[in-house]
Amino acid sequence: MDTTNQHSDEINAAIYVTRPFLPPLAELLPYLEQIWSNRQLTNGGPFHVQFEQALCDYLGVEHISLFANGTLALITALQALRITGEVITTPYSFVATAHALLWNGIKPVFVDIHPDTLNLDPDKIEAAITPQTTAILPVHVYGRPCDTDRIQAIADTYGLKVIYDAAHAFAVEDEGGSILRHGDLSILSFHATKVFTTFEGGAIVSPDAKTKKRIDYLKNFGFADEVTVVAPGINGKMNEFQAAVGLAQLRHIDQALAERAAIDRRYREMLADIPGIRCLSPPPSRRHNHAYFVILVEPEYPLSRDELYLKLRENGIYARRYFYPLISEFPMYRGMPSARPAGLPIAIDTAREVICLPIFPGMTDEIRLKVIDIIRF
Ligand SMILES: *Cc1c(COP(=O)(O)O)cnc(C)c1O
Repeated sequence: MDTTNQHSDEINAAIYVTRPFLPPLAELLPYLEQIWSNRQLTNGGPFHVQFEQALCDYLGVEHISLFANGTLALITALQALRITGEVITTPYSFVATAHALLWNGIKPVFVDIHPDTLNLDPDKIEAAITPQTTAILPVHVYGRPCDTDRIQAIADTYGLKVIYDAAHAFAVEDEGGSILRHGDLSILSFHATKVFTTFEGGAIVSPDAKTKKRIDYLKNFGFADEVTVVAPGINGKMNEFQAAVGLAQLRHIDQALAERAAIDRRYREMLADIPGIRCLSPPPSRRHNHAYFVILVEPEYPLSRDELYLKLRENGIYARRYFYPLISEFPMYRGMPSARPAGLPIAIDTAREVICLPIFPGMTDEIRLKVIDIIRF
């Protein structure tokens, strides 16, 4: 085989910001054979049970409810805690964060982010609290931990619930352990684009068994047993195929995270001396997942952010502008008082400067060097 050609093919193919991380097919087949023979496809089958336990062990949490996707997990988490009225959240996230509020008839109240963490700024939360506020919905953006202590202190003072959108924060830990132990509930996403995927998938992390039990009713139409329905639940169940992918995958996640960490390190070294390109500081977390590699294109860089984004595309590098536009700029949100740009200056500046560069297990040095060359001129 001509390896030179193979290399040039690889470098000329379109490169996306991520590439789904999958277990070796041969390792998945025994699971599929078992599904095909026992015919249990969903409704809490054996792989679902095993995967919940395996995830609890891996992540270092006690109670997990698996879901068909992260958005249903978020919608159900809000239902489980009977959140109503207004919820304080960030405009700098994937649109599902705020959509989950609208699907529950809850009004999102957008609060600006902190320029260093790009997470909800605790200093700005209190001013947004009204008699209708019942909860805070922060996001650990890019897997970088929110200021969980300050957010909890505010929640305690005002009697609010806290639900973390931890869709980016798989396997992230702070000094005390899993980042998922904070707040009243945390939700995960296992979408194809995330660090750990089951094709589609998600989960809610609960602090105790009774909360998990209620969530498990809610995700299965509210059924407590064959003849008892205790809530107007939804169908949010993860199926056996998804659980099997997750189980096979879990064996390889440490290796995948180590590869991401190495790519992150090398990007940082090579971008350090390019004027106008700022990397986010390495996160303070004890364990990070390097889910995204983020640069901010500042005014001294010779191209605008969008010019650099287009230049990368013209060279086959499909970087992404996460998160642009802001959630607060979409039509269903932009008329709300809290969506006014004057109240969200940091989020607006960040959305104007951000680019996420490709980072995924198996990403070659050639790809990284090509990305750097384009940025460097
Ligand atoms: C991916 C994502 C979601 C939604 O998860 P799905 O599994 O795609 O439904 C929610 N919030 C954030 C911040 C996300 O990135």
